[in-house]
Amino acid sequence: MSLSRFPCAVCGTLISRRPPDAKRPRHLTCPRCRYMIYDYPRSAAGMLVVRDDRVLLLERAHAPRIGFLDVPGGFMEARETIEGAARRELREETGLTLGKVDSLGFYWDTYFIKGFGRFPVMNFYFAGHWRRGEPVAADDAASAAWVPIASVMRHQKRFAWAHMKPLLRDLAAWAKRA
Ligand SMILES: [Zn+2]
Repeated sequence: MSLSRFPCAVCGTLISRRPPDAKRPRHLTCPRCRYMIYDYPRSAAGMLVVRDDRVLLLERAHAPRIGFLDVPGGFMEARETIEGAARRELREETGLTLGKVDSLGFYWDTYFIKGFGRFPVMNFYFAGHWRRGEPVAADDAASAAWVPIASVMRHQKRFAWAHMKPLLRDLAAWAKRA
């Protein structure tokens, strides 16, 4: 993986980012003016929709991981609640709205932006039952499909993100309880 660089906010010198080790906040120090920032993780939120024994997955329309399978979700915006962000992303990407949802858990992953580098992401997920309407893929999603939960791991080579494996395992347990 190539290093990527970004300009120091104080003096503009290019600072190199490295892949995060996720053990502790990283310091990034400008080699010229010694300005230091903590490289904290970003937050993302997603929504798993269950209909009978199937879960709603999306095919990604845009880079990164174009054509890979994804869960409705995305980066949180400032001042949103985590659940509000998950509901917004579901609405934007599928047009669906849900009633009551459960918090499913929290999953680490990384994300890469060209020219910025790889950074740690905290992914929060909720799960709820489909109520009405057919999903209409939009925004970051090219298409939507109801995938049987019992056989979802057969598609793991097409999962867009590493954390989808533990996430969908946890969803299977949630669907049995719910
Ligand atoms: Zn500097």
